Amino acid sequence: TTPTEAELIGKNEVLPLYKPREKYSHKGSFGHVLVIGGSYGKIGSVTLASQGVLAIGAGKVTAYTPKCGYIPLQVGFPEAMVLTDTDEEKITSIAFDIQPNVIAFGVGVGTDAQTIDAFEAFLKVNKTPLVIDADGINILSKKKALLKLLPENTVLTPHPKELGRLLGQWEDEFNKLKKAKAFSKKYKCIIVIKGANTITVFQDKLYVNATGNPGLATAGTGDVLTGIISGLIAQSYDPLVAAIFGVYLHGKAADLLVEDLGYQSFIASHVIEGIPLAYLDLF
Ligand code: AMP
Ligand code: MG
Repeated sequence: TTPTEAELIGKNEVLPLYKPREKYSHKGSFGHVLVIGGSYGKIGSVTLASQGVLAIGAGKVTAYTPKCGYIPLQVGFPEAMVLTDTDEEKITSIAFDIQPNVIAFGVGVGTDAQTIDAFEAFLKVNKTPLVIDADGINILSKKKALLKLLPENTVLTPHPKELGRLLGQWEDEFNKLKKAKAFSKKYKCIIVIKGANTITVFQDKLYVNATGNPGLATAGTGDVLTGIISGLIAQSYDPLVAAIFGVYLHGKAADLLVEDLGYQSFIASHVIEGIPLAYLDLF
């Protein structure tokens, strides 16, 4: 077996990764994220991810949802642009005439057969960097043939159940990481194994995050993370750096929220509000 290199990621490790803003910059300097997701009753996931995108500093975000997402997004998050599918309740085709720097696919999207077909058709032509979360991962697990269509350095952000579907059940923690490393190598992807100590896996390397707390165990926090990582890629961070730095800032935001709100009561929207605090805490 290959010896594992594991690195603990705290402030000292992320500080050198940070890219300061230049005076003569404009919103085009910070990239454009397309968030594709949502289905009837799960549009909030797209709103949260889109808010994460802008809060982390990307220049622009467009959400692509079923038609039922149009009003909630435009009203709930006026900073986002919105494109809609032809279907009212689910994604059935993926077609757009914008040029995003990165695409986040999967939050709240469901696993309807038509959505799977639309994602497959999209993957066959797509060349834009990808972040895949939630039902996007579940779709890959249902139809493993899609995995070889992923662009290099795609970031996957599974929670433990999604990881189990993707890798198949593991025997113990050691075996889980071994499977994740093999998967990362086979499909040339980055796997963010979410949980109490989120571990980002890239080939044989493991990056163990030092921030975060059980207050994050609440609906929608994962969607915010998807937005954060995509928003960093849009700002020209390498996908691996975006994953490591994004997981750190998301956890740090939660740690700073605990000081005012405690563990029980903060919700995913508060994590968005904590992102500025996490940035400020770097310096
Ligand atoms: P999701 O399950 O997709 O909504 O993602 C949940 C988010 O909260 C991930 O970023 C997890 O790493 C984080 N999280 C969940 N439970 C904990 C915990 N006990 N301690 C720290 N972070 C957690
Ligand atoms: Mg999730």
